[in-house]
Amino acid sequence: MKIVEYKMHQLIMRLKQPYRFASYEYRTRPINILMIKDELGNIGLGEVEAFEFPNYVDEIQSQCVRSINTRIMPLLGGKNYETPFEFSRFINSMNSPKMASAAVEMAVWDLFSKRNNVSFQQLLFSTIGQMNNLPAKVEVGVAIGIHNNSIQMIDEIQKQIDKGYNRIKLKINRGTKISDLVEIRRHFPKVLMMIDCNSQFGLRDKSFFQSIDNLDFAMIEQPFGKKDFKDHAKLQSIIRTPICLDENILTSDDVMKVFNKHSGQYINMKIARVGGVSNALAMTNLAIQNGLKVWCGGMLETGVGRAFNLAFASLPFFQFPGDISASDRYYINDITEQSFMINNGEMSIPQGDGIGVNLSHMAQIAFDNEEWINLG
Ligand SMILES: [Mg+2]
Repeated sequence: MKIVEYKMHQLIMRLKQPYRFASYEYRTRPINILMIKDELGNIGLGEVEAFEFPNYVDEIQSQCVRSINTRIMPLLGGKNYETPFEFSRFINSMNSPKMASAAVEMAVWDLFSKRNNVSFQQLLFSTIGQMNNLPAKVEVGVAIGIHNNSIQMIDEIQKQIDKGYNRIKLKINRGTKISDLVEIRRHFPKVLMMIDCNSQFGLRDKSFFQSIDNLDFAMIEQPFGKKDFKDHAKLQSIIRTPICLDENILTSDDVMKVFNKHSGQYINMKIARVGGVSNALAMTNLAIQNGLKVWCGGMLETGVGRAFNLAFASLPFFQFPGDISASDRYYINDITEQSFMINNGEMSIPQGDGIGVNLSHMAQIAFDNEEWINLG
């Protein structure tokens, strides 16, 4: 397979309500959608999932777009590859931002599935030697941005439970009060719930985590710094609640550090953060082989990224519902024709060739105005 042309278009996604995490509040999310075309005219879709500013990991949207236009696509053009894994190896060798590599590599998987008249899910499962009885649905959960007090948080949690979510993730920061978390658990003692700290705390806050250790959270995600493994291990040694790592898992080496240093028990795997589907698959395998538990995270994706996540999260490795929310969760207008609905805590995996989604009429018009860029 050869990639002969591509185009990319930036959409400004408007959030339904401001989304607060770490130290920033987002009202809009610029996100670039990538289309790549092979020599037979098949088209694959990918998306650049980096945020506008470096408050999750260091990579940002504009840097990834530049890298795709000036480095990745020109180098990929005209070369022939037999499998998405070959593409992935070549893209990895460029040492580009991971979320830039992932956008291209995701589009390659979509394109490769379409060329072979199979769904992305079927292609993915064939790589682990499983061809039949693929799951039609996956268990999913919702992430709730930071709110100022327990009344607002309880109100928001109830709304999400009423919509059908069975697993809740609360974003917190150093302004979050222990009493608010106690109040939330008193209100929802049975709900599968976890917290995500987005690296906002340090070991100096260990008493905060000791105080909430008896609140039966399923896990505490990324309490400490993006490069820290040592202090996470210290915290894990004094609390019962499992620690989950997100921001600092970029490579297979990072997975092994979690295992060797006992930094945590779970890994939140994100296709974009680790540079694509092939890397995510390899790292998930490595984590499982070493007794770590893995689940599939989310990045406020559009319908394109969500379709990838759903198929990926349906793999048999995952031991916790993914952060994959319904189409009506974040954006005023999503960009795919197909919408994703939650039903009793589960979401259906799109069927059809590739990732099984098309751009909506409005998004397609925006794309039609972009010129294809020939890669020779
Ligand atoms: Mg996280």
